[in-house]
Amino acid sequence: MKKDTGQNREITSGWRLQTQLVRGGTWRSEIGETSEAMFMTSGYAYDCAEDAAARFAGDQQGYTYSRLRNPTAAMFEDRMALIEGAEVARATATGMAAVTAAMLSLVSAGDHVVASRALFGSCRYVIESLMPKFGVDFTLVDGADHAAWKAAFRPDTVAVFLETPANPTLDVVDIEFVSTLARENNAVVVVDNVFATPVLQKPLAMGADVVVYSATKHIDGQGRCLGGCILTSQALLDEKILPFLRNTGPNISPFNAWVMLKGLETLDLRVNRMCDNAARVADALADMGGFDFVKYPGREDFAQHDLVKKQMSRGGSILAVHVPGGREQAFKFLNALEIIDISNNIGDAKSLMTHPASTTHASVAEAVRLELGITEGLLRLSVGLEHPDDLIEDLQKAAHMAAITG
Ligand SMILES: *Cc1c(COP(=O)(O)O)cnc(C)c1O
Repeated sequence: MKKDTGQNREITSGWRLQTQLVRGGTWRSEIGETSEAMFMTSGYAYDCAEDAAARFAGDQQGYTYSRLRNPTAAMFEDRMALIEGAEVARATATGMAAVTAAMLSLVSAGDHVVASRALFGSCRYVIESLMPKFGVDFTLVDGADHAAWKAAFRPDTVAVFLETPANPTLDVVDIEFVSTLARENNAVVVVDNVFATPVLQKPLAMGADVVVYSATKHIDGQGRCLGGCILTSQALLDEKILPFLRNTGPNISPFNAWVMLKGLETLDLRVNRMCDNAARVADALADMGGFDFVKYPGREDFAQHDLVKKQMSRGGSILAVHVPGGREQAFKFLNALEIIDISNNIGDAKSLMTHPASTTHASVAEAVRLELGITEGLLRLSVGLEHPDDLIEDLQKAAHMAAITG
């Protein structure tokens, strides 16, 4: 039945990524709509009381309540699982809901977790503040230091959390190395794959157990909705994550799930064009001179370029530059931009630049910021879909006005 083809993993798993992104997980109602239907409903009615009882008993297929599952959210989840190569996915209201739900489902009081220290500010909060609140101990390591990873595992380590490339310093962690180590230590690996997107990096294929996304970023990609996703195996979902999700309710709304589904249709196009643009912009910034450094994972001069080549198909859409004149010069540069917005989001069609030390990482202790390399001269640029020459001219003009000269 063609109306259900998108739901048939035997068929859809043979499709190429671009086809999966447009058609995976799709299911049509009796109306035959071409665009996925938005089921804006909290509950479901049953033909008879016996049906209601059977559905709650799990003897009859179907929906019971949108906190447990919703057809539009399910289409988004099924498409995400397909493109990630995961058995299952569950969508959440935000990326942080995905991170928090995944981590809290895996731990109990008395357990220990290991995480890379270069993390999105709120992810650091989950590891450093939330875990200890519930009696879970943690160790943070320099993600590039293999000896530190080895030394961090203990008999009570149950989970590993890492982000690669990391926000905003773009530090890269070897997913295969950490996953192998974790397996030897019976710990589950959770990878925040936001910066790489499912188009550029596949952590599950490298041995990770769980992948989390902020769908707010490239998956929506147009700055409209918040959303998140957890991808994993059926066993881990059923045993650990689903009971937490079903009873605590961090679900995505059907409307946001629908926006994300439509976003996925163009994800490959957008991410690849953003990579083209980011590479052009990074080279132009490096050629301009005057910056202490230009960091872009796709450039040959990126410190971990070999690792990037091993685990990412392209360099991504985000780069970092460092101005010599600290916060004052960084602000001058930002304020002189005419096209690129001053904004702390990433993965948007619009190019966005932010000063992490005063925004996304302002709540992180100064000593920690410095340890992570988030200094006052650091600026993060998320490259969008504008013409790269317009972006380069905007950056050149702003650099001139901020007296950043090579
Ligand atoms: C944005 C982001 C998150 C959080 O996602 P929200 O949708 O804002 O909750 C988590 N990790 C990384 C790397 C991010 O960039």
